[in-house]
Amino acid sequence: MARVAVVTGGTRGIGAAISLGLHKAGYKVAANYAGNDEAAAAFKAETGIHVDKWDVGSLAACKDGIARVEAALGPVEIVINNAGITRDGFFHKMTEAQWDEVLQTNLKSLFAMCRVTIEGMRARGFGRIVNLSSVNGQKGQMGQVNYSAAKAGVIGFTKALALENANKGITVNCIAPGYVATDMTKAIAPDVMQKIVAQIPVGRMGEPEEIANTVLYLINDQAGFITGSTIAINGGQFTVG
Ligand code: NAD
Repeated sequence: MARVAVVTGGTRGIGAAISLGLHKAGYKVAANYAGNDEAAAAFKAETGIHVDKWDVGSLAACKDGIARVEAALGPVEIVINNAGITRDGFFHKMTEAQWDEVLQTNLKSLFAMCRVTIEGMRARGFGRIVNLSSVNGQKGQMGQVNYSAAKAGVIGFTKALALENANKGITVNCIAPGYVATDMTKAIAPDVMQKIVAQIPVGRMGEPEEIANTVLYLINDQAGFITGSTIAINGGQFTVG
């Protein structure tokens, strides 16, 4: 039986590449999204992938969303916490809303999505969770105190949840991408982007499919000994032990 995977923010950017990669590999995929119904409907029509709209920053919305996915596809065994936003600005000018929105979507979402799926995974003795952090959560980034804090939090969350569930057949891992060509990075001014690319040893930005390939590796049934890890995919921009 094909395993059921939920990809948050799964109809665009890195999330869309993950949804497609899993779909092609034979998983039953539900791609969650937050905003654009028309774009999500087009993604569904083009790919045949199940889509469902809810706000991953809300526990109640995740509970309802996962219930709908499970009614349609079956028990969720794989969760890819990919949805994320930026609300950049220097800290001395940062508003409470900029802080709260980023922490809610990028970090509280992990609490909400995992809280509503982990009990089923524990009962069935199998689960795969992959969380999207960022190079900027590992090294810090000017103008992104909120985002860096949330993405560093993703790494701590991953390690602790991995320990709690290691004896239940559940692995919890983290991917920390560097700069990847998506709508998120299109928002960066071209001259700033040029300077960033100049500091990437591989000499280019990453492709969404390069992140998706690593997700596929981590969720494989054979990857049961990999847990609590953070895998950097950043073209050599920042190397950590
Ligand atoms: P993107 O902006 O292209 O897509 C983000 C997706 O998240 C969208 O589909 C959006 O609808 C969804 N989303 C946002 N808020 C949501 C909410 N409240 N509920 C449900 N869905 C919501 O971003 P991306 O570049 O594909 O990034 C994907 C992940 O990778 C994010 O967590 C991001 O922080 C991380 N990341 C991206 C890069 C990069 O260079 N693009 C680098 C490091 C980490």
